[in-house]
Amino acid sequence: NETMPHWLTKQAELSPHKIAIENTDDRTLSFLQLEQESKTFAKKIATLGIGENAKVAILSTNRTDMVIAIHALSYLKAVAVLLNTRLSKQELQYQLKQSETTLVITTERLRNDKKLDFPLQKTYSDIQVLNEAEIKLPTQINVQDPFTMMFTSGTTGNPKGVIHTYGNHWASAIGSMLNLGLNKDDKWLLTLPIFHVGGLSILLRSVIYGMTVFLMEKYDSNQFYETIMEKKITIISLVTLMLKQFLKKVGKTPLPNHVRCFLLGGGSVPEPILKQVAEKQIPLFQSYGMTETSSQIVTLSADYAFEKLGSAGKPLFQAALKIWNQNEEGIGEIVVKGPMVMKGYVNNEQANESSFEDGWFKTGDLGYLDEDNFLYVVDRRTDLIISGGENIYPSEIENVILGVEGIVEVAVIGRKDETWGQVPVAFVVRSCSDVSQQMIDEHIKIKLASFKLPKKMYFVQSLPRNASNKIMRHKLKDLLEE
Ligand code: AMP
Ligand code: MG
Ligand code: MG
Repeated sequence: NETMPHWLTKQAELSPHKIAIENTDDRTLSFLQLEQESKTFAKKIATLGIGENAKVAILSTNRTDMVIAIHALSYLKAVAVLLNTRLSKQELQYQLKQSETTLVITTERLRNDKKLDFPLQKTYSDIQVLNEAEIKLPTQINVQDPFTMMFTSGTTGNPKGVIHTYGNHWASAIGSMLNLGLNKDDKWLLTLPIFHVGGLSILLRSVIYGMTVFLMEKYDSNQFYETIMEKKITIISLVTLMLKQFLKKVGKTPLPNHVRCFLLGGGSVPEPILKQVAEKQIPLFQSYGMTETSSQIVTLSADYAFEKLGSAGKPLFQAALKIWNQNEEGIGEIVVKGPMVMKGYVNNEQANESSFEDGWFKTGDLGYLDEDNFLYVVDRRTDLIISGGENIYPSEIENVILGVEGIVEVAVIGRKDETWGQVPVAFVVRSCSDVSQQMIDEHIKIKLASFKLPKKMYFVQSLPRNASNKIMRHKLKDLLEE
């Protein structure tokens, strides 16, 4: 098993006084302080029986405590299971079970809000008052060991837990740096949720590069804009919704010189937005990636934003990409390979078997390469709906709605939305006209995160199906446009 010095220990030695985490609520920490706090935290939760390979869930907004907890788990060789705070209680319970979590670390507010049925739950303040176990913490990292786990939904069935090893995160961080470069005064704005890989990966880059992160607990468009303009931010990770709001705020104000990169993930950018980006000379890097690839795996640099309009770019260093089963237009399934690609999903033999072939990970996304080998993600085989950067799979909502009495059939599709990009709407066939949207909502809102609840339900006589009885979703899209 290949090892390397523990990232945070090493960085605390190399740049002890450099700021690791800066934020607005006075919990700015240097790398040395972050190391010490993380080790203390580790020794405290060790008294709860947490040790090697334990699965510890974190249900939290982006707080300095959360950063400390994640590094603390690495000092115990435990696995951090990162939970999406927007999910419903039922969705969270499923992930706790599937991941075999033994401890939940959370905030006061989220504990009271979610009311999880779970025996061992501790808030950050509960942990603060624990004694420290007398144990020696490791100084090395095993590259193949699992470090984090986060769930991602798919076309069929339940969300799958993606396991990231240290090696996956390392390769992702290095690949990103070889692409974007690294400056001594880089400061990366972290406002994406840490429970998604786009947020988490910034923290790991921070300890690997020795780079300052400006942490925002939650995205807020005003604070986002002001922070970028005033805090000497150099790199910003964001999704389309945030970019749109930023463009509005920026108006005719020129961007300060220190901003060198807007790294956009989670989906494509509409062309009118790209036009504004060019007018305002925003250094936008578009990317393609997923939880399974430990964040971006393909990136388009700002230089090509117009020449290669709509492209997601080229694979990062160490990563490779192919298009399988191409049709006559060259469109096929995007498959990827590289050290940032996960080894597999947790407790899910079936998904692991179907997702890999000859060492390639099958993304389920469709795309093609142009003559210069730039990737274009054309369509989502999966009917994926992306709403404000959160992914929504129609089948997940459909299955829940089908469980409501009086529902015969249902199809969920995405509707264009000014603010969110897309929102889910449902076409429902009911057995009697007494069944209303309100009744359905009542049943499903306890099972689904609120961002997944259909914004509108259309009651129809039947759903359009083709000869092989598949629902023709494009017909439903046409209906919406009328
Ligand atoms: P997640 O694992 O939640 O980050 O979702 C990853 C999925 O988002 C991918 O499999 C794609 O379906 C979609 N996605 C990510 N980047 C892009 C992009 N540049 N263009 C289109 N779809 C994207
Ligand atoms: Mg996926
Ligand atoms: Mg996403």
